Amino acid sequence: MQKSCLALYSGGLDSILACRVLMAQGIHLVAIKFITPFFGWDTKGREEEVCRDAVQRFGIPLVIQDISRDYIEMLKTPAHGYGRYFNPCIDCKILMVRKALEMMPDYNASFIATGEVLGQRPMSQRRDTLRIIERESGAEGLILRPLSATHLPPTRPQQEGIVDIGLLPAITGRGRKTQIALAREFGIKEYPSPGGGCVLADPILSVRFKVMVQEFSKLKPEDFVMAQKGRHFRLPGKSWIAVGRNRQENIEIEELALPGDLLARPDLPGPTALIRYWHRDDLDMAARIVDRYAKPHHLPHTISFWCKEGGDTERDIFTRKPFLQIQVNQPISGQLLDDYRF
Ligand code: SF4
Repeated sequence: MQKSCLALYSGGLDSILACRVLMAQGIHLVAIKFITPFFGWDTKGREEEVCRDAVQRFGIPLVIQDISRDYIEMLKTPAHGYGRYFNPCIDCKILMVRKALEMMPDYNASFIATGEVLGQRPMSQRRDTLRIIERESGAEGLILRPLSATHLPPTRPQQEGIVDIGLLPAITGRGRKTQIALAREFGIKEYPSPGGGCVLADPILSVRFKVMVQEFSKLKPEDFVMAQKGRHFRLPGKSWIAVGRNRQENIEIEELALPGDLLARPDLPGPTALIRYWHRDDLDMAARIVDRYAKPHHLPHTISFWCKEGGDTERDIFTRKPFLQIQVNQPISGQLLDDYRF
Protein backbone atom coordinates (compact mmCIF):
# COMPACT_ATOMS: atom_id res chain seq x y z
CA MET A 1 0.00 0.00 0.00
CA GLN A 2 1.22 3.50 -0.86
CA LYS A 3 1.65 6.00 1.93
CA SER A 4 -0.83 8.30 0.24
CA CYS A 5 -4.54 9.00 0.45
CA LEU A 6 -7.45 11.06 -0.79
CA ALA A 7 -9.38 12.92 1.90
CA LEU A 8 -12.97 14.07 1.64
CA TYR A 9 -12.89 17.75 2.50
CA SER A 10 -15.89 19.93 3.35
CA GLY A 11 -13.84 22.87 4.61
CA GLY A 12 -15.22 22.37 8.14
CA LEU A 13 -12.90 21.91 11.09
CA ASP A 14 -13.28 18.11 11.29
CA SER A 15 -12.21 17.61 7.70
CA ILE A 16 -9.28 20.00 8.14
CA LEU A 17 -8.10 18.14 11.24
CA ALA A 18 -8.55 14.72 9.63
CA CYS A 19 -6.13 15.85 6.92
CA ARG A 20 -3.66 17.42 9.29
CA VAL A 21 -3.37 14.46 11.69
CA LEU A 22 -2.54 12.20 8.74
CA MET A 23 -0.12 14.66 7.18
CA ALA A 24 1.60 14.87 10.58
CA GLN A 25 2.41 11.14 10.13
CA GLY A 26 4.03 11.76 6.76
CA ILE A 27 1.06 10.55 4.71
CA HIS A 28 0.98 12.14 1.27
CA LEU A 29 -2.53 13.52 1.07
CA VAL A 30 -4.73 15.28 -1.47
CA ALA A 31 -8.06 16.64 -0.25
CA ILE A 32 -11.13 16.63 -2.52
CA LYS A 33 -13.91 19.11 -2.15
CA PHE A 34 -17.03 17.95 -3.95
CA ILE A 35 -19.48 20.64 -4.90
CA THR A 36 -23.17 20.61 -5.83
CA PRO A 37 -25.90 23.29 -5.84
CA PHE A 38 -26.54 22.32 -2.23
CA PHE A 39 -23.07 22.76 -0.78
CA GLY A 40 -19.88 24.39 -1.96
CA TRP A 41 -21.51 26.07 -4.98
CA ASP A 42 -20.01 29.44 -4.04
CA THR A 43 -16.67 27.86 -4.94
CA LYS A 44 -17.72 27.58 -8.58
CA GLY A 45 -15.73 29.85 -10.85
CA ARG A 46 -13.10 30.57 -8.20
CA GLU A 47 -11.63 27.11 -7.78
CA GLU A 48 -8.03 28.30 -8.07
CA GLU A 49 -8.50 30.89 -5.34
CA VAL A 50 -10.12 28.36 -2.98
CA CYS A 51 -7.36 25.80 -3.56
CA ARG A 52 -4.69 28.45 -2.97
CA ASP A 53 -6.45 29.48 0.23
CA ALA A 54 -6.55 25.87 1.55
CA VAL A 55 -2.79 25.58 1.07
CA GLN A 56 -2.04 28.98 2.60
CA ARG A 57 -4.34 28.71 5.61
CA PHE A 58 -4.25 25.02 6.41
CA GLY A 59 -1.34 23.61 4.42
CA ILE A 60 -3.73 21.24 2.62
CA PRO A 61 -3.45 20.54 -1.14
CA LEU A 62 -6.97 20.61 -2.53
CA VAL A 63 -8.82 19.62 -5.70
CA ILE A 64 -12.41 20.60 -6.41
CA GLN A 65 -14.85 18.48 -8.34
CA ASP A 66 -18.42 19.26 -9.37
CA ILE A 67 -20.64 16.18 -8.90
CA SER A 68 -23.97 17.98 -9.36
CA ARG A 69 -25.50 15.82 -12.06
CA ASP A 70 -24.91 12.50 -10.30
CA TYR A 71 -25.97 14.10 -7.04
CA ILE A 72 -29.32 15.26 -8.43
CA GLU A 73 -30.00 11.76 -9.76
CA MET A 74 -29.27 10.29 -6.33
CA LEU A 75 -31.46 12.92 -4.63
CA LYS A 76 -34.54 11.71 -6.52
CA THR A 77 -34.55 8.25 -4.87
CA PRO A 78 -31.89 7.83 -2.19
CA ALA A 79 -31.81 4.18 -1.13
CA HIS A 80 -31.54 5.12 2.56
CA GLY A 81 -34.13 7.89 2.46
CA TYR A 82 -33.93 11.40 3.83
CA GLY A 83 -33.08 12.84 7.22
CA ARG A 84 -35.28 15.31 9.04
CA TYR A 85 -35.57 17.53 5.96
CA PHE A 86 -34.55 16.66 2.36
CA ASN A 87 -31.03 15.64 3.32
CA PRO A 88 -30.10 12.17 2.02
CA CYS A 89 -27.05 12.01 4.28
CA ILE A 90 -26.21 8.32 3.99
CA ASP A 91 -26.50 8.19 0.19
CA CYS A 92 -24.70 11.53 -0.04
CA LYS A 93 -21.71 10.03 1.72
CA ILE A 94 -21.87 6.81 -0.27
CA LEU A 95 -21.80 8.83 -3.49
CA MET A 96 -18.84 10.90 -2.35
CA VAL A 97 -16.84 7.85 -1.30
CA ARG A 98 -17.64 6.17 -4.64
CA LYS A 99 -16.40 9.24 -6.48
CA ALA A 100 -13.23 9.31 -4.39
CA LEU A 101 -12.72 5.63 -5.07
CA GLU A 102 -12.84 6.31 -8.83
CA MET A 103 -10.25 9.08 -8.42
CA MET A 104 -7.78 7.04 -6.35
CA PRO A 105 -5.67 5.73 -9.26
CA ASP A 106 -5.19 9.28 -10.61
CA TYR A 107 -3.60 10.29 -7.31
CA ASN A 108 -1.83 7.03 -6.59
CA ALA A 109 -3.84 6.88 -3.38
CA SER A 110 -4.23 3.69 -1.39
CA PHE A 111 -7.03 4.72 0.98
CA ILE A 112 -9.68 7.36 1.65
CA ALA A 113 -9.87 9.54 4.76
CA THR A 114 -12.93 11.40 6.03
CA GLY A 115 -13.54 13.84 8.87
CA GLU A 116 -16.46 11.81 10.25
CA VAL A 117 -16.67 11.57 14.01
CA LEU A 118 -18.41 8.57 15.55
CA GLY A 119 -21.67 9.63 17.23
CA GLN A 120 -21.52 13.26 16.13
CA ARG A 121 -24.58 13.22 13.86
CA PRO A 122 -27.71 11.16 14.60
CA MET A 123 -28.17 9.69 11.12
CA SER A 124 -24.94 9.53 9.19
CA GLN A 125 -22.28 9.08 11.89
CA ARG A 126 -23.62 6.13 13.88
CA ARG A 127 -21.47 3.04 14.02
CA ASP A 128 -23.87 0.99 11.87
CA THR A 129 -24.20 3.81 9.33
CA LEU A 130 -20.46 4.21 8.94
CA ARG A 131 -20.38 0.50 8.18
CA ILE A 132 -23.16 0.84 5.57
CA ILE A 133 -21.33 3.71 3.85
CA GLU A 134 -18.19 1.61 3.67
CA ARG A 135 -19.94 -1.48 2.34
CA GLU A 136 -22.23 0.17 -0.20
CA SER A 137 -19.61 2.49 -1.62
CA GLY A 138 -17.39 -0.49 -2.43
CA ALA A 139 -14.59 0.84 -0.23
CA GLU A 140 -14.53 -1.87 2.45
CA GLY A 141 -11.44 -1.57 4.61
CA LEU A 142 -10.32 1.51 2.71
CA ILE A 143 -12.06 4.31 4.64
CA LEU A 144 -10.08 5.66 7.54
CA ARG A 145 -11.82 8.11 9.88
CA PRO A 146 -8.72 9.50 11.59
CA LEU A 147 -10.60 11.44 14.29
CA SER A 148 -12.43 8.34 15.56
CA ALA A 149 -10.29 5.50 14.19
CA THR A 150 -9.38 4.14 17.61
CA HIS A 151 -13.07 3.45 18.28
CA LEU A 152 -13.71 1.75 14.93
CA PRO A 153 -12.73 -1.61 13.41
CA PRO A 154 -9.22 -1.67 11.91
CA THR A 155 -8.81 -0.60 8.31
CA ARG A 156 -6.22 -1.68 5.73
CA PRO A 157 -3.89 1.34 6.11
CA GLN A 158 -3.75 0.55 9.83
CA GLN A 159 -3.25 -3.20 9.32
CA GLU A 160 -0.49 -2.61 6.78
CA GLY A 161 1.33 -0.20 9.07
CA ILE A 162 0.85 2.88 6.89
CA VAL A 163 -1.02 4.76 9.59
CA ASP A 164 -0.15 4.63 13.27
CA ILE A 165 -3.53 4.66 15.00
CA GLY A 166 -1.85 5.26 18.36
CA LEU A 167 -0.90 8.75 17.21
CA LEU A 168 -4.42 9.71 16.19
CA PRO A 169 -6.94 11.48 18.45
CA ALA A 170 -9.78 9.40 19.89
CA ILE A 171 -12.78 11.64 19.37
CA THR A 172 -16.45 10.63 19.65
CA GLY A 173 -19.73 12.44 20.15
CA ARG A 174 -20.97 15.94 19.63
CA GLY A 175 -18.54 17.92 21.78
CA ARG A 176 -16.03 20.20 20.10
CA LYS A 177 -13.46 20.68 22.85
CA THR A 178 -10.90 18.17 21.55
CA GLN A 179 -11.17 19.51 18.00
CA ILE A 180 -10.68 23.10 19.17
CA ALA A 181 -7.63 22.11 21.21
CA LEU A 182 -6.23 20.17 18.25
CA ALA A 183 -6.80 23.14 15.95
CA ARG A 184 -4.82 25.29 18.35
CA GLU A 185 -1.98 22.75 18.29
CA PHE A 186 -1.85 22.95 14.50
CA GLY A 187 -1.97 26.76 14.58
CA ILE A 188 -5.39 26.83 12.90
CA LYS A 189 -7.17 29.95 14.10
CA GLU A 190 -10.07 30.51 11.74
CA TYR A 191 -12.43 27.84 10.49
CA PRO A 192 -16.13 27.66 9.58
CA SER A 193 -18.64 26.93 12.35
CA PRO A 194 -19.86 23.30 12.42
CA GLY A 195 -23.09 22.14 10.85
CA GLY A 196 -23.48 24.91 8.28
CA GLY A 197 -23.26 24.72 4.57
CA CYS A 198 -25.79 22.17 3.28
CA VAL A 199 -29.10 23.67 2.22
CA LEU A 200 -30.75 20.25 1.92
CA ALA A 201 -31.11 20.43 5.70
CA ASP A 202 -32.70 23.90 5.57
CA PRO A 203 -36.32 23.70 6.83
CA ILE A 204 -37.70 26.09 4.18
CA LEU A 205 -35.55 25.38 1.13
CA SER A 206 -35.80 21.64 1.61
CA VAL A 207 -39.59 21.82 1.08
CA ARG A 208 -39.07 23.64 -2.24
CA PHE A 209 -36.41 21.16 -3.38
CA LYS A 210 -38.76 18.30 -2.64
CA VAL A 211 -41.52 19.82 -4.78
CA MET A 212 -39.02 20.33 -7.60
CA VAL A 213 -37.75 16.77 -7.51
CA GLN A 214 -41.28 15.35 -7.39
CA GLU A 215 -42.97 17.63 -9.93
CA PHE A 216 -40.45 19.12 -12.36
CA SER A 217 -39.74 16.92 -15.35
CA LYS A 218 -36.27 18.27 -16.18
CA LEU A 219 -33.84 19.58 -13.62
CA LYS A 220 -30.39 21.00 -13.98
CA PRO A 221 -27.98 22.10 -11.22
CA GLU A 222 -28.71 25.79 -11.92
CA ASP A 223 -32.39 25.18 -11.10
CA PHE A 224 -31.50 24.32 -7.52
CA VAL A 225 -29.37 27.46 -7.34
CA MET A 226 -32.31 29.55 -8.61
CA ALA A 227 -34.57 27.92 -6.00
CA GLN A 228 -32.45 29.45 -3.24
CA LYS A 229 -33.24 33.08 -4.15
CA GLY A 230 -36.51 34.96 -3.88
CA ARG A 231 -40.19 33.99 -3.77
CA HIS A 232 -41.22 31.13 -6.06
CA PHE A 233 -44.30 30.44 -8.14
CA ARG A 234 -45.23 27.73 -10.64
CA LEU A 235 -47.90 28.53 -13.24
CA PRO A 236 -50.31 26.20 -15.06
CA GLY A 237 -48.19 26.15 -18.26
CA LYS A 238 -45.18 25.03 -16.12
CA SER A 239 -43.44 28.44 -16.19
CA TRP A 240 -41.38 28.93 -13.05
CA ILE A 241 -40.94 32.40 -11.56
CA ALA A 242 -38.50 33.62 -8.93
CA VAL A 243 -39.26 37.12 -7.65
CA GLY A 244 -36.57 39.09 -5.80
CA ARG A 245 -37.43 40.17 -2.26
CA ASN A 246 -35.01 43.06 -1.99
CA ARG A 247 -32.45 45.02 -3.99
CA GLN A 248 -29.65 42.51 -3.36
CA GLU A 249 -31.80 39.56 -4.42
CA ASN A 250 -32.88 41.44 -7.55
CA ILE A 251 -29.23 41.72 -8.56
CA GLU A 252 -28.53 38.07 -7.72
CA ILE A 253 -31.59 36.91 -9.65
CA GLU A 254 -30.45 38.86 -12.71
CA GLU A 255 -27.10 37.14 -12.52
CA LEU A 256 -28.70 33.70 -12.41
CA ALA A 257 -30.49 34.09 -15.76
CA LEU A 258 -29.44 31.52 -18.36
CA PRO A 259 -29.81 31.85 -22.13
CA GLY A 260 -33.49 31.43 -22.96
CA ASP A 261 -34.71 32.64 -19.54
CA LEU A 262 -36.86 35.75 -19.22
CA LEU A 263 -36.23 38.62 -16.84
CA ALA A 264 -39.12 40.90 -15.95
CA ARG A 265 -39.42 44.26 -14.24
CA PRO A 266 -42.26 46.69 -13.52
CA ASP A 267 -42.18 50.29 -14.76
CA LEU A 268 -42.25 51.41 -11.12
CA PRO A 269 -39.98 50.52 -8.21
CA GLY A 270 -40.32 46.80 -7.68
CA PRO A 271 -38.77 43.40 -8.02
CA THR A 272 -36.81 41.71 -10.74
CA ALA A 273 -38.27 38.33 -11.67
CA LEU A 274 -36.59 35.43 -13.40
CA ILE A 275 -38.84 33.17 -15.47
CA ARG A 276 -37.59 29.75 -16.54
CA TYR A 277 -39.20 26.97 -18.60
CA TRP A 278 -41.68 29.65 -19.63
CA HIS A 279 -44.77 29.32 -21.76
CA ARG A 280 -46.32 32.32 -23.51
CA ASP A 281 -49.77 31.55 -22.05
CA ASP A 282 -48.38 32.07 -18.53
CA LEU A 283 -46.88 35.50 -19.07
CA ASP A 284 -50.02 37.54 -18.28
CA MET A 285 -50.16 35.80 -14.92
CA ALA A 286 -46.41 36.25 -14.49
CA ALA A 287 -46.88 39.99 -15.05
CA ARG A 288 -49.61 40.09 -12.39
CA ILE A 289 -47.34 38.33 -9.93
CA VAL A 290 -44.51 40.81 -10.57
CA ASP A 291 -47.01 43.65 -10.28
CA ARG A 292 -48.13 42.32 -6.90
CA TYR A 293 -44.75 43.26 -5.41
CA ALA A 294 -44.34 46.61 -7.22
CA LYS A 295 -44.87 49.92 -5.41
CA PRO A 296 -46.98 52.05 -5.27
CA HIS A 297 -49.73 49.59 -5.75
CA HIS A 298 -52.25 51.45 -7.91
CA LEU A 299 -52.86 50.12 -11.41
CA PRO A 300 -52.21 50.04 -14.28
CA HIS A 301 -48.56 48.98 -14.34
CA THR A 302 -46.54 47.89 -17.32
CA ILE A 303 -44.33 44.86 -16.81
CA SER A 304 -41.51 44.48 -19.33
CA PHE A 305 -39.89 41.17 -20.25
CA TRP A 306 -36.41 40.64 -21.71
CA CYS A 307 -35.05 37.37 -23.01
CA LYS A 308 -31.50 36.44 -22.02
CA GLU A 309 -29.40 35.50 -25.02
CA GLY A 310 -26.24 33.45 -25.21
CA GLY A 311 -23.91 36.38 -25.90
CA ASP A 312 -25.26 38.66 -23.16
CA THR A 313 -22.70 39.93 -20.72
CA GLU A 314 -23.85 40.34 -17.13
CA ARG A 315 -26.58 42.93 -16.73
CA ASP A 316 -26.62 44.42 -20.23
CA ILE A 317 -29.93 42.76 -20.94
CA PHE A 318 -32.04 45.69 -19.71
CA THR A 319 -30.43 48.12 -22.14
CA ARG A 320 -32.27 46.38 -25.02
CA LYS A 321 -35.81 46.95 -26.15
CA PRO A 322 -38.06 44.61 -24.13
CA PHE A 323 -39.11 41.44 -25.87
CA LEU A 324 -42.64 41.90 -24.51
CA GLN A 325 -44.61 44.42 -22.43
CA ILE A 326 -47.82 43.58 -20.59
CA GLN A 327 -50.10 46.08 -18.94
CA VAL A 328 -51.63 44.82 -15.72
CA ASN A 329 -55.13 46.13 -15.10
CA GLN A 330 -56.34 43.65 -12.52
CA PRO A 331 -54.44 42.78 -9.34
CA ILE A 332 -53.82 39.14 -8.58
CA SER A 333 -55.77 37.81 -5.61
CA GLY A 334 -54.00 36.56 -2.52
CA GLN A 335 -55.68 33.16 -3.04
CA LEU A 336 -54.34 32.76 -6.56
CA LEU A 337 -50.90 33.91 -5.46
CA ASP A 338 -50.90 31.22 -2.76
CA ASP A 339 -52.11 28.59 -5.22
CA TYR A 340 -49.07 29.20 -7.42
CA ARG A 341 -46.52 29.63 -4.62
CA PHE A 342 -44.17 26.79 -3.74
S1 SF4 B 1 -25.91 17.41 5.57
FE1 SF4 B 1 -25.91 17.58 3.30
S2 SF4 B 1 -23.74 17.44 2.70
FE2 SF4 B 1 -23.90 16.68 4.80
S3 SF4 B 1 -24.14 14.48 4.57
FE3 SF4 B 1 -26.18 15.34 4.73
S4 SF4 B 1 -26.85 15.65 2.62
FE4 SF4 B 1 -24.61 15.37 2.57
